[in-house]
This record gives sequence, C-alpha cells and structure tokens, in this order.
Amino acid sequence: MLGCERPPAQVVRSREIMGTFARVTGVAPDEAQAAAAVESAYTRLADVNRLMSDYVDESEVGQFNRLSAGQRLRVSPETFTCVVRGLEVATASGGAFDMTCRPLIALWKRCGRAGRLPTEAELAAAQALTGVDKIGIDPADRSIWPMTEGVQLDLGGIAKGYALDLAGEALRRAGATSGLIDVGGDVLAVGRRPDGKPWRVGIKHPFTEGIYTVLLLADKAVATSGVQQRFYDIEGKRYSHIIDPRTGWPAEQAPSVTVIAPDGITADAWGTVLSVLSVAEGKQRLTAPGAPPIEVMWITGDAADPVVDETPGFAAYLAY
Ligand code: ADP
Ligand code: MG
Repeated sequence: MLGCERPPAQVVRSREIMGTFARVTGVAPDEAQAAAAVESAYTRLADVNRLMSDYVDESEVGQFNRLSAGQRLRVSPETFTCVVRGLEVATASGGAFDMTCRPLIALWKRCGRAGRLPTEAELAAAQALTGVDKIGIDPADRSIWPMTEGVQLDLGGIAKGYALDLAGEALRRAGATSGLIDVGGDVLAVGRRPDGKPWRVGIKHPFTEGIYTVLLLADKAVATSGVQQRFYDIEGKRYSHIIDPRTGWPAEQAPSVTVIAPDGITADAWGTVLSVLSVAEGKQRLTAPGAPPIEVMWITGDAADPVVDETPGFAAYLAY
C-alpha cells in the first residue's frame, strides 16, 4: 500500500551494568518493539553479570572460587560455554590467555594497595595455583571444578564479550532488525543502521581524552584493551590489570589494542591475549594455524611519539 511504509523506530537506553556504562540501541518496525528488544538485551547483560562476576559472591564464578579440590559445581549453559570458549583461547594463544590467573591478580591488587612489588615467594605461590590444566570440566553434566586446592576462576577477560553476543541474540529474537550494544567501550554491531550504512563506533585515544578513530561496523564486534583504563601504581610505575601468566608479572605490552572480530567473545578474549603478547608475537600468532579471523590495531609508544601497527585488513573498517 502506498504511503503506509513507516521508517523503523530506534530506541537508545543507557544504564550502569557489569561495573561499567552500557548503551544499547534497538531498531525495530515500531517503538514498542524496539524498546522491548533493548530491554531483553539488558536482561542478558544482567544475566552474565549475575552468573559470572567475581565481585558477586553468589555468582557461579564466586561459588567456584570457594570450592575445595575435586568438588564439582554444575553451572548454567552460559557459564559452561564461556569457560569452554576461554579454554579454546588459552590453547590458541599459547597460554597468554588464562582464566585461572585470579591468584596472581589478587596478589598484584594487594601489592598495588600496599604500594610495593610482590616478593619472589609470593609470585611463585600464586603462579603455582595458575594454569588452565587445573580446571576440571565435564560436558555430561556441565560441571566444572578446581583440580587442586586454591585454583580460582576469573572470566573478566572474556565475559563482557560473551555478554555482548547473548545480548545481540536477545535483541534480534525480540524483533529488532538491527542494533548496537556498547558495554564499556566493547561494542557489538548487530546488522546495519536503519539507513543501510554500517554503525559508526568511536575508539578512545590511548594517550589523550577523546576519540582516536571511528570504525564502520556491521555484524562485527570490537573490543579495546589497554593499560590506560585500569592499572596499579607501584613505586611510581604503572602496571596493567592484565597479567602475563607465563611470568606472573603484569603485561608490559601495548598501551592499546583494538580487536575487530565476528563476535564479542572473540574480540574481548583476543584483546586480552594481544595485551599480553608483544606486537611481533601477536602478529605471529595471528598468522599461525588455528588463529581467529580478527583484525587488530596496536597503539604503542607514548603521547609524544605514538606508534600504530595494524593487521592488513584493519584499514577497511576505518571511517576516514
Ligand atoms: P577490560 O575490558 O575490563 O579492561 P579486558 O578484556 O582487558 O578487561 O580483560 C582484563 C581482565 O581479564 C582483568 O581484569 C582480569 O579479570 C582478566 N585477566 C587478566 N589477565 C588475564 C589473562 N592473561 N588471561 C585471561 N584473563 C585475564
Ligand atoms: Mg578482554
């Protein structure tokens, strides 16, 4: 019927969730449907926080971290999937990604507060509790367990990205034709904008306030990891909140790594991986068999002399 075609409605809602700020955009044939889609996306973000945050005592991760060696915990399909995917990234990254690094993170956090470096003995003790081979896993009943006493789980390097994927699915299932989900700068672009163009996503400048560049994304996710966001200050030096599990020390690498991936979980986890690896190691990993289909931009150096490295396909996503 002529004249009956209305433009789609777009609803945008911002909220504090997962310890950060989120902004969810839903596009649907009408306003009520767009709003409902945005709400269902938020429900999934809240689900992941409730299940996987290690700040929430009753979360499944919180429960895991109180288990004794060999004691099994049956978990939700969501948590189980996230752990399995994390184990896959651990292998594909040659151990740079390690969800059992929580004792090391706790140690560095404690030392950060006390303003001192950890001792060799403290580092060795925490490292002895670290290693993905220390997590038991049984798909038959979706259970996970620490294989030795003191093994702990931290899904902080992957759960946010996985939450984006679950929220994106929920958005679509609720009738959205497209949308944009931003959780603390990690973003999933679902489909395209109502005008058919890709979504525009700003990437923060690693050294100054404001936006460094803008990416054009459709059915892609982007995650940025960097020392500029969260760090410990010890004896006048900045230490990353990302740990190199191979040494037990905070990652010394890129101030900023931006990963574009087919889904949020890959973008988030590889952002963490590539913060641990040097640019050269990262590039090598990405051309090895089993590497994920991602594009990466590294910004190293400092404010006076920034150095930008990119994988060959990254430039295709730049808005200008
Ligand atoms: P954010 O986006 O919050 O900065 P990242 O995606 O960069 O988070 O991941 C950092 C978080 O991942 C840390 O806070 C910690 O919970 C966890 N983490 C730190 N080092 C590692 C590692 N080597 N492997 C897996 N997870 C890690
Ligand atoms: Mg990450």
